[in-house]
Amino acid sequence: MAGEDGAAAPEAAQPPADPSPGSDGGGYDGKCVFCRIGRREEPGTALLPCESEGLVCFRDIRPGAPHHYLVVPIEHMGNCKTLKKEHIPLVEKMMEAGKNILQQNNFTDLNDIRMGFHWPPFCSISHLHLHVLAPASQLGFLSRMIYRINSYWFITAEQLIERLQTENAAS
Ligand SMILES: [Zn+2]
Ligand SMILES: [Zn+2]
Repeated sequence: MAGEDGAAAPEAAQPPADPSPGSDGGGYDGKCVFCRIGRREEPGTALLPCESEGLVCFRDIRPGAPHHYLVVPIEHMGNCKTLKKEHIPLVEKMMEAGKNILQQNNFTDLNDIRMGFHWPPFCSISHLHLHVLAPASQLGFLSRMIYRINSYWFITAEQLIERLQTENAAS
């Protein structure tokens, strides 16, 4: 959908016809804007202090709420649909980092936040990223659509964990 997350630059159209081995299992993809941000190769994107090892935090360039951050693993990981049970600790860690970043920015009502992932194919960037929005009660009309709970294009972090817990076979 238009204006999905925009966390950066024009989608460096990742050719799907190029299944590079590193594209899912960690590592670095020089064509991926989030990989470059993680390595501080995107001077236009300021990283926020993030104490979680292996993760980076920064503001979404098209904020959908007064607070809108992205939490991104430094290593290239595919989108949330490709995650498995063993990724639950990672998702939990990303949620922790998201809450920390809100608190650091003086937003403390953790009942009024929305955290989640866009479900493929509604991701503009394939590198795994958690959207952290607050206050959830102040999402504008468009954001309410884009980050809508129980939609087929957005899954909250809690729902994703539940889904991973109940998933026994590979997708
Ligand atoms: Zn997104
Ligand atoms: Zn990447």
